[in-house]
Amino acid sequence: MIDDTRDILCDLIAFPTVSADSNLELIAYAADHLGALGARTSVILDETGHKANLIASLGPEEDGGIALSGHSDVVPVADQDWTSDPFELREENGRLYGRGTCDMKGFIAASLAVAPLFAERPLSRPLHFIFTYDEEVGCLGARHLVDEMGRMETRPSVVIIGEPTEMRIVEGHKGCCEYTTTFTGLEGHGSMPDHGVNAVEYAVRYVAKLMELREDMKRWAPPGSRFDPPWTSLQIGRIAGGVAHNVIPGLCTVDWEMRPVRAEDRVRLRAAIDAYVNDTLLPEMRAVSPDADVFTHVIGEVVGLEPCDDNEALRIVSELTGSNEVDVIAFGTEAGLFQELGMSAVVCGPGSVEQAHKPDEFVSLNQLESCLAMLRGLEPRLIAE
Ligand SMILES: [Zn+2]
Repeated sequence: MIDDTRDILCDLIAFPTVSADSNLELIAYAADHLGALGARTSVILDETGHKANLIASLGPEEDGGIALSGHSDVVPVADQDWTSDPFELREENGRLYGRGTCDMKGFIAASLAVAPLFAERPLSRPLHFIFTYDEEVGCLGARHLVDEMGRMETRPSVVIIGEPTEMRIVEGHKGCCEYTTTFTGLEGHGSMPDHGVNAVEYAVRYVAKLMELREDMKRWAPPGSRFDPPWTSLQIGRIAGGVAHNVIPGLCTVDWEMRPVRAEDRVRLRAAIDAYVNDTLLPEMRAVSPDADVFTHVIGEVVGLEPCDDNEALRIVSELTGSNEVDVIAFGTEAGLFQELGMSAVVCGPGSVEQAHKPDEFVSLNQLESCLAMLRGLEPRLIAE
């Protein structure tokens, strides 16, 4: 089975599915592979028609079931120094090199390689394969897919996301929300500050409020939180505005980000900062210039995966891997989106995040073997006694 996995991975790596480009060939390849095994496949195109998600299902057409999920896109290779062609699989010393080998085509290849095993058996519970687009640029594909799945009559109840965790079990990660807030004031001469609306000064007050709320968030940290830091963090990444000492700046932008430990923190913080804008800043700004404005553009809001007490996905993966050690991680995945839809989600996959996004990315054959063992172990859970 490791040979099948290697062959499939070789094919997957050859599709240069950098997020900016199309993933249709890869999705068609996976759909053909699973379709030939008798899976019900559904290819869901994005609005441009250049990218797609795939859901494929084996077994009974009913609610519930276990899903194996991975993103099909990879990060770019531009400006990286690779030993060999990143889109041609190379094997050396028990490692398979190529862009996406660990993040995360290795898991997709292993999933496709075990599929025939399940196709031959009378499954009593469905097994789903979910492959998405645009994870690396804000989980856009999964967001689209989850919206579609929300309208479906039947959907999986458990999802295993095979992001590279060295096969360690991960039950949580923070969300990642990025914003650009633009302050539009009124330019004027520095000698007459009351005749203008100083966009930089309002931006500074906004930033000060965010930093005050950041302190509040430390108190909102869930008890027993294992994240580092345990609370929702926030930081200002960039401020840009102004022309010269003696000119009232008419424009200022603030780039900031928040890493929520739970979804309600994001809602709470945004409500608090929006209230400050609407009740305090805007009335003062508009008293001088009715056209003054404060606008927050959401760059991305990737939800976190919140650890929870009753997690079927975690129980299953824990039994399959024989490990009771459960971690939280620092990087984001699509898991939180599935959790939002009521699915139980866990992250566990081959390869290390150490190699992800870097030149000479690789996954070891050992890691793929462990992954195959985990996936094969699903068999008794999908077949009636
Ligand atoms: Zn990934």
